[in-house]
Amino acid sequence: MKHFPIFLDIKDRHCLVIGGGPVATRKVKNLLKSNAKVTVISPEVETSLNQLSEENKITLINRKYQATDIVRAFLVVAATNDSQVNADIAKAANDANLLVNVADNPELGSYIFPSVIDRAPVSIAVSTGGASPVLARLLRARLETMIPTSCGRLAGITEEYRQKVKDAFPKQSQRKEFWETALKGAFAELVYAGQDKAARKLLDEALDNHRSHANGEVYLVGAGPGDPDLLTFKAARLMQQADVMVYDRLVSKAILDMANKDAERFYVGKEKENHAVPQDKINDLLVDLAKQGKRVLRLKGGDPFIFGRGGEEIEKLAENNIPFQVVPAVTAASGCSAYAGIPLTHRDYSQSVTFATGHLKDGTINLNWKQLTQKNHTIVFYMGLTGIKVISEQLQAHGMSGDMPAALVEQGTTMNQRVHIGTVATLPQLVIDSGVRAPTLTIIGEVVKLHDKLHWYEPERHVKEQSEFTRHKT
Ligand code: SAH
Repeated sequence: MKHFPIFLDIKDRHCLVIGGGPVATRKVKNLLKSNAKVTVISPEVETSLNQLSEENKITLINRKYQATDIVRAFLVVAATNDSQVNADIAKAANDANLLVNVADNPELGSYIFPSVIDRAPVSIAVSTGGASPVLARLLRARLETMIPTSCGRLAGITEEYRQKVKDAFPKQSQRKEFWETALKGAFAELVYAGQDKAARKLLDEALDNHRSHANGEVYLVGAGPGDPDLLTFKAARLMQQADVMVYDRLVSKAILDMANKDAERFYVGKEKENHAVPQDKINDLLVDLAKQGKRVLRLKGGDPFIFGRGGEEIEKLAENNIPFQVVPAVTAASGCSAYAGIPLTHRDYSQSVTFATGHLKDGTINLNWKQLTQKNHTIVFYMGLTGIKVISEQLQAHGMSGDMPAALVEQGTTMNQRVHIGTVATLPQLVIDSGVRAPTLTIIGEVVKLHDKLHWYEPERHVKEQSEFTRHKT
């Protein structure tokens, strides 16, 4: 390791920045974040440095650097636009045993500035030892997405409770276990969800009971329509920390591959009229697993609250006092619409949109057909394939022109996406001719015309035989 990483407490310490351009300004602002006493020496400075000086936040000395400037500073930054001057500063500072950073030639200095992820009081510093600042920035960006912004609040609340936990658990090993369970489980999740009060209550209860908190919980998580890049950060994080996964047929394989490899997996996929596991059994399973103290990830295709029966599942959890949270996701309608180049609304064609189920109940679909056939309107049918004939007939019977454009989006957003275009009248035949298979979304309305012009997503690895989704075996 070329550089030795440490975190310095520079509060009220004298930090000297020589130079007044953009680089120096950036360093000054960073130093101020940690409450340093900053002095800037430069004949000319950026406007923002002048402003900081007027606000008495820094001391500004408007002249060139002089050899006698290097006195009693805690650390020095050489950031002038003259590399000879920077080298002189470095020499003087090194001779005086002061920490010095040289902006344009890090080798001459004794420290470098890392890329920082700031979640005060948590901070993470990334350095490539000067080898590639761009790589450091990219790594930082990746970490930014993985570490919830509320991580700082989590650290803050944890600090509040340190003494209390120490009092309750005299042994270091007990405390370690307590915190590990809390920080990997419901306590941390409540803080991330902004429910600090409930999080504190949970810790208080756990402490009252003099035991580490080991209750299970359920995350009802939407997995989006198929493309793993459409997962939310929250979904990706919970997928990593779950002990058990209970998932549907509509969760794509690419997404399942991203989940914690060690998590126990329960497949409860459903296909119409052919329930692999009946809904009430799924509800019971979630309760049982959580009662065993497990963190249960209930992963559902699309958004859990859009034709996902998510509501029923958490009702049962609520009745059993099991903590849960719901993570929304890109629903099939938005995913398919975007990837098929069919905007659901458009100033010229459609001012409203309805998401409807085409699922036949006793061979009929109970929908307000009159309302659906209004002008300038888009209809999106979920689960519409088997009912497609009824849908086509009813829409026409209620005044929709048979020429109204319609699209079938099959396995939307995945590498197997196919889009089939027809009209309301031709839909039933289109389903037969195209050999389209579930999951498929039906979009009806003038907006479908835009597909020709706006489609951009044509996956090359088009494998019709293999589905991106798990097929139900029985
Ligand atoms: N909760 C899900 C919908 C579940 S209902 C969501 O918000 O998307 C199941 C129906 O969703 C399927 O019959 C199909 O119409 C649609 N669907 C889900 N994923 C899809 C995909 N990748 N491509 C096309 N349609 C999809």
